[in-house]
Amino acid sequence: MRFDEIVLFPFDALKIALFPKKCICCGEIIDEGEDMCYICQNNIELINPKKRCKFCGNEKDNCSCKTRVYYFKNIVCVYKNTGLARQALYRFKLSKKSHYAEYFADKMAHCVMTEFKGIKFSAVTCVPSSLHSKLLRGFDHSKLLAQIIAEKMKIPFVDGILKSRHFVKSQHKSDFSSRFENAKSKYYFVKKAKYKNILLVDDIKTTGASLDSCARQLLLAGVENVYCATVLSSGARKKKVEKIQS
Ligand SMILES: [Zn+2]
Ligand SMILES: [Zn+2]
Repeated sequence: MRFDEIVLFPFDALKIALFPKKCICCGEIIDEGEDMCYICQNNIELINPKKRCKFCGNEKDNCSCKTRVYYFKNIVCVYKNTGLARQALYRFKLSKKSHYAEYFADKMAHCVMTEFKGIKFSAVTCVPSSLHSKLLRGFDHSKLLAQIIAEKMKIPFVDGILKSRHFVKSQHKSDFSSRFENAKSKYYFVKKAKYKNILLVDDIKTTGASLDSCARQLLLAGVENVYCATVLSSGARKKKVEKIQS
């Protein structure tokens, strides 16, 4: 055993004992080198790439875009916006732990490189976060994901093409069509971007309104084709089942 191994070993062991690696979904203690516990790995809901709708990113039997045409050309989303995946993303946004970003960006980059195989991307960018969201969380999670994806794909990350206005009301409180109207006035481009194919990254796609508005602005800025990637995607909204009065 080398001298540095003898000296470092107790510190590494102490670090692992004090700060054990935890499952990104449920928080259970796991082995170093793992990201998810066995149970979560088997139960997290991936979107099957073979069944994926290229317009909304959901599986075709859960397609949410039947009547809408988006400005982006294609989208890949890694997980369904349900249970464990939603929990993991929530933990990422609250925790600021970098291994979450590494994990999600790795999955996203893999999806992009396999499903958009043959497309030569000139740059990666992200949906800009509002100042309010950055102040609230202390970091820009979509930017962090986009930066890591760009690094993994060996293409430049480009910041500052798009900006977000702060006065628009929160998307969470708006209905489906209002979200598109809000998003339309929320994002705007501030500089020209002469790229053939650009990858637009965000953490979650619900209606697709934010991605659509950003894609529109990127096209206006001079980009030829916009492709999107998100961690989560919400499927079609289930119709409410009326309660039978007894
Ligand atoms: Zn777990
Ligand atoms: Zn669809």
